[in-house]
Amino acid sequence: MTIQALSYFGLEVTDVDAWRSFAEDVLGLLSADDIADGTARFRMDSRAWRIEVTQGPADDLSFVGFEVADAQAFEEARERIERLGVSTHSGSEGLARRRGVLDLFYFSDPTGMQVEIFYGATELFEKPFHSPAGVSGFVTGGQGVGHVVLLVPNLIQARTFYEEVVGLRVTDIIDMPTAAGTIELVFMNCNPRHHSIAMGQASIGKRLDHFLLQVASLDDMGFAYDRALNAKMPIRATIGRHSNDHMVSFYAFTPSGVAVEYGWGARELNETWRVVRYDTASLWGHHELGPSKGY
Ligand code: FE
Repeated sequence: MTIQALSYFGLEVTDVDAWRSFAEDVLGLLSADDIADGTARFRMDSRAWRIEVTQGPADDLSFVGFEVADAQAFEEARERIERLGVSTHSGSEGLARRRGVLDLFYFSDPTGMQVEIFYGATELFEKPFHSPAGVSGFVTGGQGVGHVVLLVPNLIQARTFYEEVVGLRVTDIIDMPTAAGTIELVFMNCNPRHHSIAMGQASIGKRLDHFLLQVASLDDMGFAYDRALNAKMPIRATIGRHSNDHMVSFYAFTPSGVAVEYGWGARELNETWRVVRYDTASLWGHHELGPSKGY
């Protein structure tokens, strides 16, 4: 099996309307044709949607979708995962229609999150993406939607799961110093994006530390920083550059309390990449301003 990308994810939030305004006005995402049940979905590119936001009390990540190339890779993935003793479930026709994919199956990760494997996403080239906030473009395509950073109760268990069951590769490790001691962060890839998922051990009652959206230019990132400040959104961390992927980014809190990293300029993986480790998460910047929730 070859996972090709983290292609979509879903959040559960208490206030969908506040989130929609934030997504359009600050992040620059385009609202997709909504599903009738009050769910909001957002586009970043030619895909029909990339981020789904549903109403609920969790204010957390509820599902992630990993993409494989075609029906054969899909069947191979399911057989391989079942052989590892993980029980998988076929996505219903209704769920496949809702996700806009040809087929999907799903299973739970060690935090109880729904992990979906799919192929056959819906492309809407006839409705070109345009950002309502004037973002020149998001870095997606072969690199997928962006990345998510998970807080897990048991790092070894979660790392093993995402390596062996999902089939991701470890990119590198950061031993990040914090006030509470050093926290080990593990970064994992499935395409040239430095990491599609990262994880660290923490128990704060939420599984998502932050999600990342990457934009095409430095100005796209800077304009978003200004929009976040002008909208009085709490800034979690100032603009900085990460030690491992070299992303220049800032962190803000979304209306649901979950943090978003908004970045530009990450370096990409190639066949010469070797796993390395770091003693710090950022070369410069990323000074924490908001309530500290880790990386
Ligand atoms: Fe990040």
